[in-house]
Amino acid sequence: MREPGQPPLTLRSSYAGGKVDLDLLMSLFDRLDTGLWIFDIDHMRVLWANQKALEITQSASLAELQARDMAADMSHSVEQRLRQYQQDFCKQDVSFSEMWTLYPQGEAKVLQVIMSGIRLTDGRMALLCEGRPHHEQQPETLRSSEALMHTPVMISLFSRDGRPLYRNTAARATCLSLDTTFEGQFEAPREAAPLLGLAESKRTARRVARVKTNAGLRWHELTVRACHDSVTGQPAYLVSEIDVTELHETKERAQYLASHDALTGLSNRTYLKERLAQVLQDASGEGKAATLYLVDLDDFKMVNDSLGHAAGDSLLQLVAAKLMELAGPDDIVARLGGDEFLICHLEKSGSHEPDWFGQSLLREFARPQLIDGKPKTVGLSIGYTHYPEDGENIGELMRHADLALYQAKTDPKQKCVRFRERMRLLRDEHKAIKKDLERAIREDEFLLYYQPISCTRSDRVVSAEALIRWQHPEKGLVPPDKFIPIADETGLINDIGTWVCRNVASMQRRLESMNIHIPLSLNVSPRQLSDPHFVSCMQALPEETGCDPGLISLELTECVLLGDIPNALETLSALKQAGYRIVIDDFGTGYSNLAYLHNYPIDGIKIDRVFMEEVATGGAIVKLILSLANALGAEVVAEGVETIEQRSWLSKNGCNRYQGFLYSRPVPEDRFLSMLETQMRIAAM
Ligand code: C2E
Ligand code: CA
Ligand code: CA
Repeated sequence: MREPGQPPLTLRSSYAGGKVDLDLLMSLFDRLDTGLWIFDIDHMRVLWANQKALEITQSASLAELQARDMAADMSHSVEQRLRQYQQDFCKQDVSFSEMWTLYPQGEAKVLQVIMSGIRLTDGRMALLCEGRPHHEQQPETLRSSEALMHTPVMISLFSRDGRPLYRNTAARATCLSLDTTFEGQFEAPREAAPLLGLAESKRTARRVARVKTNAGLRWHELTVRACHDSVTGQPAYLVSEIDVTELHETKERAQYLASHDALTGLSNRTYLKERLAQVLQDASGEGKAATLYLVDLDDFKMVNDSLGHAAGDSLLQLVAAKLMELAGPDDIVARLGGDEFLICHLEKSGSHEPDWFGQSLLREFARPQLIDGKPKTVGLSIGYTHYPEDGENIGELMRHADLALYQAKTDPKQKCVRFRERMRLLRDEHKAIKKDLERAIREDEFLLYYQPISCTRSDRVVSAEALIRWQHPEKGLVPPDKFIPIADETGLINDIGTWVCRNVASMQRRLESMNIHIPLSLNVSPRQLSDPHFVSCMQALPEETGCDPGLISLELTECVLLGDIPNALETLSALKQAGYRIVIDDFGTGYSNLAYLHNYPIDGIKIDRVFMEEVATGGAIVKLILSLANALGAEVVAEGVETIEQRSWLSKNGCNRYQGFLYSRPVPEDRFLSMLETQMRIAAM
């Protein structure tokens, strides 16, 4: 509308040089019935406005409008929106239409504003606004379009083929680019079609999906409604989205934490029980055999006690990773707690031997593993059950696998054991023995027997080995094989071992006082050696009992040489330093290479009694051990000598010491002392 009294428009030299006169243009702008202004978003100022815009904003002059700080009463969300437009315009030549309400003199003025980008001479992007008073809009429409503009919910309209028709401010602020299709926003685009299909059949569909946004991948909850585009009347989809990333990740994390073991990342016991039922059911449906393996690390406590918890943790992580690597894609691998793992292994029925997988675990772990950069052999014990033969439900299968595991733990020769009914009895018996042993320690029910070690030439006693017996109140004399493995397994061996050491030390002192200067030997189990108190206890012994450690030999099995016991070398060196002699027991039965021997401070070796049998057929192995021991300067004792032939063979082949039933069985203390006294008397004759 033109104001009355304004002069009519005249063309002044308007075609000078073929260009439109600038003044003419400016006066043309002032004649428009549309408010036109350029807004500098960076400074929140109007740079220029036409006459209509001055009217709308109730400004007396352009200078007055330019001086106004528009940021002063602009809400944060409007400011953000303007900045978003600025970015949009930098990317694309588009325009947006919005309904604005201005309050120039406190009175509301509603405008329909069309915004587009205009590049300033300094290169910055400003906003070109065209505003027209909007009287015909219904208040409801005005409010809803206002709400659409301000809501943080991302609202978009897509055509049937997925093209974007409209995005509200929030949607524009988030989308990867303004022309991204509905499908194109999904991280997994195949998720789009089912969602639209569902919206089509049910009118609305909802799901949480990972979508690509300009802030990277986010979790959005999308609600899709099938509708019609109000402009074209064509079918369309109205999509509203909210960002649920934090919520989703917190939930996922909480779920993950509740179902996984933090150290190894494997499923935990709770999650396992949930999954196992399903897996077992599926397996039988698919004609697969399911085997439940319980895997336990041997001597884990020893690693933890002697190398520290960090090393223990690395070991558990390594085992977890290895088990995951060996397991099949459908198998479940879980950590049940401590050093106990479970694997539910699935395979086609009859495709392998029933314990094939367990055996392959053992083979794999027979090789040394690198823990904190050092190679170490990790011993495993495995108990397993087959579904459904060994148990109908998870509880039963697990209990039975546990019994089998117990058997594997206590039997050094069988490390992968299937459940058998009789194991129940065995375990009950072991449990009873453990309880009994605790009492035996309190009540001092142990005895030491001594078995002489003699010279193969003179047949005189030159030494003796202390062997423990348990004087049980009901069962009578119990041999060590019946309780030492259980004492080892339960850790009671530390108390029992200390008792043995004290008694042998006193006996040695007693022999000294009788003027008998022969060395005594005692057995030390690997578990004792890794007990941090063991060394200090041994160091205190000479002072405590008056014994001569140089006349006490500690018999250790070969496993100390194999690196199975952490810090073995330091421990042996400390014992050596304290004056004791170190002897390797049952030599030849383990895997030890004689080459290991020279790495340790070894004074002697005892050839295991199994080799006495081969003496009759040449004794090649014994000869080999003898010559190597000789080269190392280690004293050799042959064990289990039962015949005169064996003794003379030993004598001929340079083995001077023997122990066995041929000379004497292990005998009670007083009997041993009287044997020595007799020998002394004969010698004195
Ligand atoms: P070991 O250290 O190899 O002890 C020798 C075993 O062989 C003894 O069995 C002995 O009675 C037996 N033996 C000796 N000569 C002969 C023979 O000529 N023929 C046969 N067939 N056997 C013979 P014992 O006393 O029953 O001890 C069994 C095992 O128990 C010992 O084997 C040792 O490993 C363990 N043990 C015994 N006492 C202790 C102890 O105080 N502490 C620890 N940690 N273990 C012990
Ligand atoms: Ca021994
Ligand atoms: Ca032995």
